[in-house]
Amino acid sequence: MSSRELLGESTADPHLPERRRSRRATHSSAAAAALEVKQEPPFRMASRELHPESSVVCAGGVEIGAGRLVVMAGPCSVESRQQIRATARRVKAAGADMLRGGAYKPRTSPYDFQGLGRKALGWLAEAGRESGLPVVTEVLSPEDVDLVAEYADLLQVGARNMQNYALLRRLASGSKPVLLKRGPSATIREWLLAAEYLLSGGNARVVLCERGIRTFETATRNTLDLAGVALAKQLTHLPVIVDPSHATGKRALVVPASRAAAAVGADGLLIEVHPCPGRALSDGEQSLNPDEFEELMVTLRSLAFCAGV
Ligand code: PEP
Ligand code: MN
Repeated sequence: MSSRELLGESTADPHLPERRRSRRATHSSAAAAALEVKQEPPFRMASRELHPESSVVCAGGVEIGAGRLVVMAGPCSVESRQQIRATARRVKAAGADMLRGGAYKPRTSPYDFQGLGRKALGWLAEAGRESGLPVVTEVLSPEDVDLVAEYADLLQVGARNMQNYALLRRLASGSKPVLLKRGPSATIREWLLAAEYLLSGGNARVVLCERGIRTFETATRNTLDLAGVALAKQLTHLPVIVDPSHATGKRALVVPASRAAAAVGADGLLIEVHPCPGRALSDGEQSLNPDEFEELMVTLRSLAFCAGV
């Protein structure tokens, strides 16, 4: 099936040049079919149609998309040197592959904790080095890309910034791999076209992240689009990971959502873990404590065992 068919789009090209369209209108249907041009997928470089082989993205020595579930874990926000070091030790011991932690936070309210910026980047990088975990952190604006890239192994584009084209262009010409989160209201087509900005701008190291979309449902913070993950895997050769923390907003749902993501074929997970979620400065209600994270990792290992991975 073509990318356009997978997206549920008509294969009649609305952009077919006027001249060809009018010629086509005057021909018999058989002749018209002969004139049908092969449709290019809307996202050429991201498309699996044109690049059937799955891509493996290497971030700080960790291979994402190579067939093994990669787990990135850590607090929503880096709050102190001690907090990130303690979290790094625990998630590493439990088997995480990468350390996450926000230094620049995109908060809905300007009155909420905005992150500790450069200071937090230093602590995050230090905790990563100490524990042997490469780090992933969000970059909010084009001006911050060089600074954040000095500290991070994988640069996160947050959901709110998926269509920040100035940021995407800046990251496209950078040297670090990018974790591109799906916007809360973005279609899969828009998400893959955002990835296309990075690829066509010269950065082939792109990992996609489904983190829940906005629907009528309010019982969960967002709605985890698992079918969208499966569809994205069919549409693109890029690795696709899942963030069950922001997708559900509820600690009790993080484990089942993680298992489901693994079962549907996600290449990895991005999970919020805090040494004391009740005292977290952001997203405590969806953060696992280190013991819960350890249990999750045991469950995931047994899942992988059952699946023969
Ligand atoms: C985050 O990862 O902490 C975050 C803010 O995520 P999102 O952009 O998906 O809301
Ligand atoms: Mn968060």
